[in-house]
Amino acid sequence: MNTPARHSLAIVGAGPVGLEAAAAALELGFDVHVFERGEVGSHLRGWGHVRMFTPWSMNVGPATARLLKANGWTPPSADECPTGDEFADRVLLPLVATPELKGRVHTHEQVVQVARRSTLQSERIGDPARADEPFRMLVRNAGGHESLIHAFSLLDATGTFGTPAWAGTGGIPGRGEQYLAPQMSYRPDDVLGLRRERHAGKRTLVVGGGASAATTVVALAKLAAEAPGTSVVWATREADGIAGANASDPLPARAELFAAARKLREGSDPAVTWFGGAEVEGFEYNTGTHKYRATFLCDGQPRIEEVEQVVLNVGYVPDHSITAGLQAHFCWATRGAMKLAATLLDSPAGSDCMVAPEGGAGVLAHPEPGFFVIGAKSYGRNSAFLLRTGYQQAADALAALAPAAIAR
Ligand SMILES: Cc1cc2nc3c(=O)[nH]c(=O)nc-3n(C[C@H](O)[C@H](O)[C@H](O)COP(=O)(O)OP(=O)(O)OC[C@H]3O[C@@H](n4cnc5c(N)ncnc54)[C@H](O)[C@@H]3O)c2cc1C
Repeated sequence: MNTPARHSLAIVGAGPVGLEAAAAALELGFDVHVFERGEVGSHLRGWGHVRMFTPWSMNVGPATARLLKANGWTPPSADECPTGDEFADRVLLPLVATPELKGRVHTHEQVVQVARRSTLQSERIGDPARADEPFRMLVRNAGGHESLIHAFSLLDATGTFGTPAWAGTGGIPGRGEQYLAPQMSYRPDDVLGLRRERHAGKRTLVVGGGASAATTVVALAKLAAEAPGTSVVWATREADGIAGANASDPLPARAELFAAARKLREGSDPAVTWFGGAEVEGFEYNTGTHKYRATFLCDGQPRIEEVEQVVLNVGYVPDHSITAGLQAHFCWATRGAMKLAATLLDSPAGSDCMVAPEGGAGVLAHPEPGFFVIGAKSYGRNSAFLLRTGYQQAADALAALAPAAIAR
């Protein structure tokens, strides 16, 4: 039987947090391997044109910086905010190319499901003896070939960007939404770059009241100034504000974004029409006119918008299907790690990303021994997550795993 070493560690997801965990794990002596279904940093690439609102000094994890510096890397200017693409190019790619991590990061290897070897989810309930068997991962490569890989410790750092939330009221798909989803956009579209042609001279509906929607609307307003005929209809569920906008925001780049979005909401640009209190009922697409009909309820009254493009920036939800075979415990409301979600509920950290949640590895733990969810996914639907919180989670989780894993 294929039994791995006790210090074997599998990390799922080669985003900034999974890779920071990998760098930190090497320092502690783990035999670490990272499995990534796409390219390194593929979720960052999905919003690669967007400038981050945190500067380099907050974006590069401490173990990442140590490993890169040991290999001759020059840190970027601490105060500048990179785009998602710049972050992937200047940090994540050099990191996986270091001799220490080379051969340990496996791209185009999707983790399909994880269980304990020879142990059902329903067996040995909450029993630490579950740790006697390694995790067993079903991994599929780009060619469809499947392998079984075993490790005694497991970190799920798969993020949430891969599963956008539905725009329909209550968070389920609106009428026609599932059918039309492949032709609508659920990401912050690069409307001034790659996706310019799609929106220039067109009427675009943007739904959402958070940072992603604000980014899209502000960029579309810029496009409208350059390309005649471009207009935006912006619908938010919030009746009178933008979620996350904070008058005393300590992150200047985010404060600037929300200030620009607020002005547009208040009617500063005739190309942008905003309406609040909007509940999405559904979407239809007319193949003759190539126009969408989006139906809303606003204060109980129906409202219909006819547009040529639709961008739905209503947040992201975690996909827990890969760990459905484990004794993992997620919050019924946010779908984040249960104890962490409870801590966030009672703490300013739940709404202010600059405040780190307390509790260390204790709040990240699940009944399943040897297993942690870290990074954006650990917060579930709560969007108050910052990378530097994820880096601390990686350190906390590894410190908790090390005593059982690393032979003294
Ligand atoms: C537009 C936008 C802007 C943001 N700006 C900031 C900012 O300025 N500052 C900040 O601190 N945070 C920011 N965030 C929030 C957060 O830091 C990022 O979402 C960050 O990418 C989270 O990192 P992560 O490593 O947890 O997960 P991700 O970066 O989401 O990485 C997860 C990885 O897991 C892989 N994966 C998923 N499923 C599987 C599977 N089954 N098998 C194998 N691999 C899998 C994915 O392909 C991906 O590469 C922003 C988020 C968004 C969406």
